[in-house]
Amino acid sequence: MRVNENILISSLTTMRLGGPARYVLEVETPAEVADAYGFAAQFGLPTFVLGYGANTLGHDDGYNGVIIINRMKGITELDEITFKVMGGEYWDNVVEYAVNRNLTGIEALSKIPGLASAAPVQNIGAYGQQISDVLTEIDVYDSYTGTYKTLSHDDLQFAYRHSLLNTTEKGRYFVISITIKLQEGQMQRPLYNSIERYIDEHDLADLSPKGIRNIVSIIRANKLPDPMDKASSGSFFHNIYLTDAEAEIAEGKNYPFHRSAEGNKLSSAWLIEQCGFKGKLLHGIRVSDKAPLVLINESAKSFDDLARARDEIISAVYDRFGYWLKQEPVEIINPPVKPGMFAGGATQ
Ligand SMILES: Cc1cc2nc3c(=O)[nH]c(=O)nc-3n(C[C@H](O)[C@H](O)[C@H](O)COP(=O)(O)OP(=O)(O)OC[C@H]3O[C@@H](n4cnc5c(N)ncnc54)[C@H](O)[C@@H]3O)c2cc1C
Repeated sequence: MRVNENILISSLTTMRLGGPARYVLEVETPAEVADAYGFAAQFGLPTFVLGYGANTLGHDDGYNGVIIINRMKGITELDEITFKVMGGEYWDNVVEYAVNRNLTGIEALSKIPGLASAAPVQNIGAYGQQISDVLTEIDVYDSYTGTYKTLSHDDLQFAYRHSLLNTTEKGRYFVISITIKLQEGQMQRPLYNSIERYIDEHDLADLSPKGIRNIVSIIRANKLPDPMDKASSGSFFHNIYLTDAEAEIAEGKNYPFHRSAEGNKLSSAWLIEQCGFKGKLLHGIRVSDKAPLVLINESAKSFDDLARARDEIISAVYDRFGYWLKQEPVEIINPPVKPGMFAGGATQ
């Protein structure tokens, strides 16, 4: 286990904000996960599990606790279509590995920044696929009981950008590895709107996993900032899912929403654009002119700058449309310290 002290959270997260974390532990074997929690307990410090930091924000006061990062690597073929992926693998390498075997199931999830261990946490999804469609189980360390367990697909209670791991049992499990079951074949038309449009405009015929990966990579490169190049957490707000009754009202007002098996999705990007934020710079935070759901840290000095930009957008959308936008990235927050209480104990 690698033990690092006083590491800036801004250097560990793609939005590049956040003060120092007291300890950052990088674990390279399942046994080291228990050691890492033991280390935190020994000092009475809280823990936060971090991956690549593409969906996590740091606060200016840093974190008086222990950040634990999964550095376990390797992909094991369980059979021709089923793979156990160690959580420290970079997610896009997993997609590349799958498409090189001509397997379908995750090709539309190409280029999503992050580690494999974080993929089930918010049930990553894009262009008509989501990890919950292919994930069969995950191996975890249960920090509450100090035991190693396997959680099945059903245990994880997947929904849109949600799972057990970021809702009812948030902060409890450390994901060690994920198991995915893919398929031979290819995605079937009709595909996600923007992919269909791209195929038509470019007269393409290759819908193989490699072909879709190429298309998705191009669409994403044209629209989304590369976190290596521009500081961002990707989509900053969730899209809004309307009940059937709410959807009827929205339809009456000509709000563009999309009915699918997932539900009635109202585009938060559209709401933000309608409020005039597209391309605007707010407190050093740029609302992307290509994808207004994406906030880019151009020159923000602190988390407070980001929070002010975020709150202005949320208020404007609420005042005009009556919908509350919900933030997608999670925040690393110091637990409150009561007078006389030792700074520790609380976990995530
Ligand atoms: C430019 C850009 C584009 C993006 N596009 C998409 C997209 O198309 N679709 C999409 O769904 N997301 C997208 N995202 C969000 C992000 O890429 C995903 O949420 C990704 O899964 C985050 O992985 P990470 O390793 O960076 O997780 P982190 O940000 O490090 O962590 C995210 C959450 O997972 C938890 N976590 C991390 N590792 C573990 C572990 N080992 N065990 C338990 N919990 C853990 C953390 O505590 C935190 O709650 C995008 C982000 C960016 C910057």
